[in-house]
Amino acid sequence: MALIPMRVLLDHAAENGYGVGAFNVNNMEQIQAIMAAAQETDSPVIVQASRGARSYSDDNYLRHLMIAASELNPGIPIAMHQDHGNSPETCKSAVDMGFTSVMMDGSLEEDGKTPASWDYNVAVTKKVVEFAHAKGVTVEAELGCLGGIEDGQGAGLSEEEAQDHLTDPEEAGEFVKLTGCDALAVAIGTSHGAYKFKKKPTGQVLRMDVIREIHKRMPNCHMVMHGSSSVPKELIDIINEFGGEMPETYGVPVEDIQEGIKHGVRKINVDTDNRLAMTGAVRKLLATQKGHFDPRDYLKPARAAMQEVVAARMVQFGQAGNAGKVEQKTLADMVKYYS
Ligand SMILES: [Zn+2]
Repeated sequence: MALIPMRVLLDHAAENGYGVGAFNVNNMEQIQAIMAAAQETDSPVIVQASRGARSYSDDNYLRHLMIAASELNPGIPIAMHQDHGNSPETCKSAVDMGFTSVMMDGSLEEDGKTPASWDYNVAVTKKVVEFAHAKGVTVEAELGCLGGIEDGQGAGLSEEEAQDHLTDPEEAGEFVKLTGCDALAVAIGTSHGAYKFKKKPTGQVLRMDVIREIHKRMPNCHMVMHGSSSVPKELIDIINEFGGEMPETYGVPVEDIQEGIKHGVRKINVDTDNRLAMTGAVRKLLATQKGHFDPRDYLKPARAAMQEVVAARMVQFGQAGNAGKVEQKTLADMVKYYS
């Protein structure tokens, strides 16, 4: 199956009440882990690349990895998504490269750090919607700002500061109407990276009520949860057992994500958990097999560890078992749909 527009996956997920994990890819082992997990669980999947991933992989390596993934997995619908585009130009280059979905993150200015004005966000998002929809490509937008920084993207807000930049449910309706975006990333107190919460989050800091309120006002809006790794203690423990030094930290509990899925969350971004799984596996192999020097010796267990995390999320989010049920719409079909 060719790559499919992300909107098709999100619509199917909404009709059938599940969420779709969006997993970041930078190299061959990661895309192999994601696709093996999708095969194992019969899941449609969103594979996403940040600007950092695109520069790390020189764009063209990444493009060919995507093509290989679709050729080797004809039964799996795959949406290829640009994570956190910082400008219309970045999104345009992703569309030109064959991505079937882009995120225009106009919640921050082009530097990827400074919180942007409402007018700026509406203007850049609208611009991207115009050229992306003309090619059938899906557009995700963001309103409100998350905490943390990842891949150089983020306002660097602390857990407390992030509470002042939550998505306003009333503004969300106006924003979606003005921009015509397909999906909306919401700020509900989460952060990018491994250090999201200092203790297990309560409803005071992880504001699931914002999601419920937006869903009540806009039942057809596909919401996206960013910074939604669960940061399992077991994975941190493996890293620390084999020479790492990571302080105690808490992520977004899977039960909260499942609650979000009941209230309109259709895309869940997970990156940190996969990073932790791979790093733990590499550390363990190198610490316990001290004579090994072939990169395959540690990349294989790293890939397997990531596959395990991704497969678990696919089951938890409910996308498992749906690969064959998603309608095979093309970008051309979506051009007609939008016009
Ligand atoms: Zn994000």
